[in-house]
Amino acid sequence: MTDKIGEFDLIRRYFAPLSKGEKGAFNLTDDAAVLGAPSGEKIVVTTDSLIEGIHFFNDDPADLVAAKLLAVNLSDLASMAATPAYYTLSLALPIKWEESKRNNWLEKFSNGLSEYQKKFKVTLVGGDTVAISGPLVLTITAFGLVRENAALRRNGAAVGDTIWVTGTIGDSALGLLALQNQLDEIDADSSVFLVDRYRRPQPRIAIGQRLHGNASAAIDVSDGLAADLAHMCRASGVGAEIDIAKIPISAAARTLTTASPELIEIAITGGDDYELLFTTDPGSSPAIESIEKVTHCTITEIGRIIEDPAIRFLDDNGENLALSNAGYNHFNIVYH
Ligand code: ADP
Ligand code: MG
Repeated sequence: MTDKIGEFDLIRRYFAPLSKGEKGAFNLTDDAAVLGAPSGEKIVVTTDSLIEGIHFFNDDPADLVAAKLLAVNLSDLASMAATPAYYTLSLALPIKWEESKRNNWLEKFSNGLSEYQKKFKVTLVGGDTVAISGPLVLTITAFGLVRENAALRRNGAAVGDTIWVTGTIGDSALGLLALQNQLDEIDADSSVFLVDRYRRPQPRIAIGQRLHGNASAAIDVSDGLAADLAHMCRASGVGAEIDIAKIPISAAARTLTTASPELIEIAITGGDDYELLFTTDPGSSPAIESIEKVTHCTITEIGRIIEDPAIRFLDDNGENLALSNAGYNHFNIVYH
């Protein structure tokens, strides 16, 4: 920041407390953190940014923006079967913010980070703070640990493998529509549930950690089920058939898709689910069931890997649903 005293003050007040528990972060007072990794483990690194006006709204509560920022990064670690350990935080704050607004926002934001980092056992170890003339830009880089050769990749799906997905699909996309008042018939409870799913993703860390030895390939669903399935299949050189009726849909989403069947396409192609999509060999149901039991999260078989490098979403009659929008892509949908 141009005002250096301001910057150090902010870090001491709002962020240094989040580094407690990791001595090597030096209370965020040195130039860098010094961290260890247990022998036999590898470091898994991922980074994701959220930009005001693109990924979140100007008036979104700051604690929820923080929760989402950390969660989207941890979801990438989950899909690699890694255990979250540390993260860094880069803040580009609008120059035009008044000090009181800035402090208010940062206090709420750090509270949101605090809640999520406790929940997922990860510690802040550094970052950067700058002022810019553009919108608020938030970046986290997350570091996880995984045993050597235990990281899951996108490229291991084999013909005949079973395709599974955690939790429920489409809540987040429908939650965003609810927030934008685009769902006329929605009841208040459903709206609260779906908006919460949009704003407070729950990265499937506990499931990811247990997939090594069971899954042949994995990806987290951030761009939408259809798009991320396509990413996994492309990396693996295979195709997939999904039975639409098997896709797990929450009660709230089910009410909406029953009343307006066209919303099923939103559920399949809308992003921000942060569920895990993975494949196993066809005999793995007992192992997956036991993971379901210990993690208290449903895991549903939705289809199979095929040789033909196509992605098919099949209805009850075996007809392929033609999707008009195959998922979120920054280079197709610029600044929507
Ligand atoms: P330098 O100019 O030496 O890079 P900085 O002023 O950028 O130092 O940062 C000082 C310390 O504060 C470093 O330990 C850095 O990791 C930490 N830091 C800066 N901004 C943040 C932030 N937004 N969140 C967490 N730590 C931060
Ligand atoms: Mg720096």
